[in-house]
Amino acid sequence: MGEGREQNEAFVTLATNDTYALGCLVLGSSLRRVGTTRQLAVMVTSGVSQSMRQQLGGLFNQVVEVNVLDSSDTCNLELLGRPDLSVTFTKFHCWRLTQYQKCVFMDADTLVVQNVDELFDREELSAAPDAGWPDCFNSGVFVYVPSEQTYRNLLSFAVTGGSFDGGDQGLLNLYFNKWATEDIGKHLPFTFNVVSQAFYSYLPAFKQFYDNIKVVHFIGAVKPWHHAYNTASRTVTQLPGTGHSQQFLQMWWNIFMDSVQPNLDPQLYESERV
Ligand code: UDP
Ligand code: MN
Repeated sequence: MGEGREQNEAFVTLATNDTYALGCLVLGSSLRRVGTTRQLAVMVTSGVSQSMRQQLGGLFNQVVEVNVLDSSDTCNLELLGRPDLSVTFTKFHCWRLTQYQKCVFMDADTLVVQNVDELFDREELSAAPDAGWPDCFNSGVFVYVPSEQTYRNLLSFAVTGGSFDGGDQGLLNLYFNKWATEDIGKHLPFTFNVVSQAFYSYLPAFKQFYDNIKVVHFIGAVKPWHHAYNTASRTVTQLPGTGHSQQFLQMWWNIFMDSVQPNLDPQLYESERV
């Protein structure tokens, strides 16, 4: 292992508001719990409060302010039923963190359950297959190399080509369009980005490989923080129809209650609970 990788490699996440920032806090805590040796960076936009930035600063090595980048692709986004996803174009700012030599981007709705530092041995662009269309990668977890040039290329590509789903995943898949065929080394095992509904789509595999799961991803409009939590029994109530696994939700809430909630500004917590 080369010198300085602890300083030059980072996990990067993103929040455009205080609610997603709660996800970043759980994600960051989960990375600390599994003993990562790498840096933690979080990108925030103007929608994240001062108080929340302070909270993030206590956990992440770096809190970086970025501008919201709108895909201006309202039509496609509405088709997808997720107009909120336009902010995910903001994700591309992660390529501008050139103080790092290599990074792993992780969505704010992911949770690390086992150490994943080995990801930094992979090349750009490495990602796991999307459960809905496995010839596309899921953009909730990916290995990349920061570069201003790549950032500019992505933006001009976005302007000329657009994204087939109106979000970052469609665009990244068109840009890194050799991912499916070129190099199997860039295919991360599914265990690095297990959608929390996987138990439903392939239960026997879920049971067989459960112990190998390293990262859980709570995709969809309903996130762990939308669920009700009973403080007396210390259990989360699964919302019907979301498909999120009860076990994974409970893992998320355990970390939230143990590591995040005790340090949270009470006013912030009250105002952000849905
Ligand atoms: N995000 C954000 N604010 C939003 C929507 C998304 O900060 O209003 C960021 C956040 O890091 C989130 C990522 O963009 O995890 C991708 O969005 P999301 O996870 O909701 O999409 P999904 O994984 O459900 O497709
Ligand atoms: Mn996500």
